[in-house]
Amino acid sequence: MSRIAFEREIFEAELLDPYHGFAPTRTKVEARRDPLTGHSARILPAGSFPPPARHDLERLAAETRKTCPFCAERIEEETPRLPPAVNRDGRIRAGEAVLFPNLVPYAKWSSVSVYSPERHLLSLPDLTPSLVAANLLAQRAFGRAVLAFDPTSQWISVNANHLPPAGSSIFHPHLQGSANPLPTTMQHLLAAVPPADVRAYVAAERDDGTRLLASSGGIDWVASFAPLGPAEICAFAAGVGSPHDLEDALVEELARGISAVLGVYDRLGFQSFNLALYGVPAAQTLLLRIVARGYFGAAERSDAMWSERLQWEAATDLAPEHVAELARPAFARRG
Ligand SMILES: [Zn+2]
Repeated sequence: MSRIAFEREIFEAELLDPYHGFAPTRTKVEARRDPLTGHSARILPAGSFPPPARHDLERLAAETRKTCPFCAERIEEETPRLPPAVNRDGRIRAGEAVLFPNLVPYAKWSSVSVYSPERHLLSLPDLTPSLVAANLLAQRAFGRAVLAFDPTSQWISVNANHLPPAGSSIFHPHLQGSANPLPTTMQHLLAAVPPADVRAYVAAERDDGTRLLASSGGIDWVASFAPLGPAEICAFAAGVGSPHDLEDALVEELARGISAVLGVYDRLGFQSFNLALYGVPAAQTLLLRIVARGYFGAAERSDAMWSERLQWEAATDLAPEHVAELARPAFARRG
């Protein structure tokens, strides 16, 4: 029997419904616990929340373009450079992507990499596999350059706040890299999981099949059993412990999958996402997490409530098995 447990419990909430003459009504809510980290999640009935609000991205792009420091007209003058001991050119380029240090020091080594100085607006369907792959390659080069100079900063991650609902302060689409001597909370939790349990978890998801999107090119894609946010999808890469260790083929495979996930988010009505790619260096465990982000309804409610921020338990009406069903065709036809 597998050592991996998919803990789930369904509760019935009972109330007298004012919309149906105060007749007794029962609704179901499901509590789940993540088999690896132990964090919990609530799966609410489908349709519990209104669909995400759509923003006029063209208007937001026009408002922010004139002073954008990441656009081609200003990027050379207005973004910082890496110290020459880390990178001789000061900035790292891969395809259209350009990487430079983050002015706001979130980490000992903190970078920003724009997909392209020429592309101030990239909606989710615009994030093609080649744009994503080039940006991941820029981040891989950053990780390698930092580690060559400062081997203690081994806790490396690649992250994204795509557009303001995801927390981005600069509109122009970009990734963020981070290299630290100490792990983040999630890196710490992942490091506490024996590598054999990670492998057992992936095998259990393959056996179960209801949340598996695809297994190809050394990467398993899964809709999270206990999602951290709306429509969370995870990828597990075999035999790698850090983003800077990824071989070209794995970068391309990740990029194809990320692009497919973003297409699914677009079809669900989302325009924004967070992404985190991180590993456990000695354990050869590498995990990618992506969640959709949005504001909901006419009042533009945030998707993070007390449950997400303070109880560390996401509540979502997008059941992971439903997300997997929607995403599977996109993975089958990935370019
Ligand atoms: Zn710009």
